[in-house]
Amino acid sequence: MKADIIIVGGGIVGSSIAYHLSQLAGAGTVLVLERDHTYTHAATPLANGGIRRLFSLPENIQMADFGLSFYQRFSEDMRVEGHSADIGFRRQGYLFLSDNGGAAQMEENFRMQESMGVPATLLSPTELSRRFPSVKTTGVDLAVLSDQDGWIDPHAALMGFRRKAIASGVTYKEAEVIRLEKAGNALRRAHGKDGATFEADVFINASGAWCAELAQTVDLKLPVEPMSRESYFFRCGEAVEPLPFIKTETDLAFRPEGQGYVGGVPDWSEKPGWNFSVAPERFNSVVWPALAERIPAMQSLKLERSWRGHYARSVLDYSPILGPCRGVLDNFFLANGFSGHGIMHAPAVGRGLAEYVVEGACQTLDLDCFGYRRILENRPYREKGII
Ligand SMILES: Cc1cc2nc3c(=O)[nH]c(=O)nc-3n(C[C@H](O)[C@H](O)[C@H](O)COP(=O)(O)OP(=O)(O)OC[C@H]3O[C@@H](n4cnc5c(N)ncnc54)[C@H](O)[C@@H]3O)c2cc1C
Repeated sequence: MKADIIIVGGGIVGSSIAYHLSQLAGAGTVLVLERDHTYTHAATPLANGGIRRLFSLPENIQMADFGLSFYQRFSEDMRVEGHSADIGFRRQGYLFLSDNGGAAQMEENFRMQESMGVPATLLSPTELSRRFPSVKTTGVDLAVLSDQDGWIDPHAALMGFRRKAIASGVTYKEAEVIRLEKAGNALRRAHGKDGATFEADVFINASGAWCAELAQTVDLKLPVEPMSRESYFFRCGEAVEPLPFIKTETDLAFRPEGQGYVGGVPDWSEKPGWNFSVAPERFNSVVWPALAERIPAMQSLKLERSWRGHYARSVLDYSPILGPCRGVLDNFFLANGFSGHGIMHAPAVGRGLAEYVVEGACQTLDLDCFGYRRILENRPYREKGII
């Protein structure tokens, strides 16, 4: 098969790039090679879907802001043959709690967010308990609330992008790429597991936490590794006021979902690599106590389900790697290493990558700070505070 542009990986990032390419004049034909159309192990359907502008790096704030506006219009913009694309967009806010000595950093980040027009508010412990009476403020020095942020259903968003991309002329093929092939400074072909070959002028690596394996087949080193994360769905037996998505410096992260909540506490002792086996006993020993300490009503909770997905963790600085590999492999473009931010950043990344490919540079947002050059030069560009 031949196409002008091949995207390896049809998760939310690959599908957003495909959609945005399909909207740009002059992009040419686009082929998405996705190994599993059920997306069983992809990060996207296993994510919590949070979208927040509570970052320290201005480019992360801009990307999330772009994502928020994009997802607000998503249902209508991704309409295909009269069917809208409902993604359960909910603007119920994001609340960061400083409970581990990071209040000064939180305030510095808040100033940056404020200067960029994010309608966030700093809350003292007293203001916090007035606003959210169920949240115990013991140990909390400061909080920041961004009440226009929120969350979506990430699987529905992936499907929305995908359907619209296909309706706009993009081809999706179920194929696993086992190897890329280069000649000189350029990629020539992708080789499928079943022996098929795919040729293109441009290749985009959107293969999620598998991206380093794919890049390695053409000797390109990508410092990205899979990090397993266990998530839980639980219900609370007592009435609690509507909560925002809550994240603390001590790593508790959860949000309301239907009649219950989703979230967890990452296990930093987990070794990089693939691990899909759930260990719900950790919920009882770590996650439940952390929840009950912060929200005493959660003492009455009931765990209903747990699952594991993988962050694509960028080892250098936890920031994504975006754009062309100029001077190394000129027609190879990267959209990798999103850690826990790929859902909120997918619209901006899709737009940015489409512009890099078709127009030679990012026009809508300046994403050059996340380029591959910083990897070659070992120049970390890192978030500060809660990531
Ligand atoms: C528990 C958890 C919670 C999260 N919560 C949030 C959140 O609240 N907000 C947020 O913004 N982000 C969150 N994330 C992160 C987010 O899920 C990811 O950043 C995002 O889904 C990455 O999308 P992707 O398309 O790059 O990767 P994926 O969704 O993993 O898609 C990659 C695709 O590439 C395919 N593929 C891989 N290799 C090949 C190959 N060789 N050939 C063909 N196909 C291939 C795979 O089958 C897969 O479908 C969370 C992640 C996890 C694990």
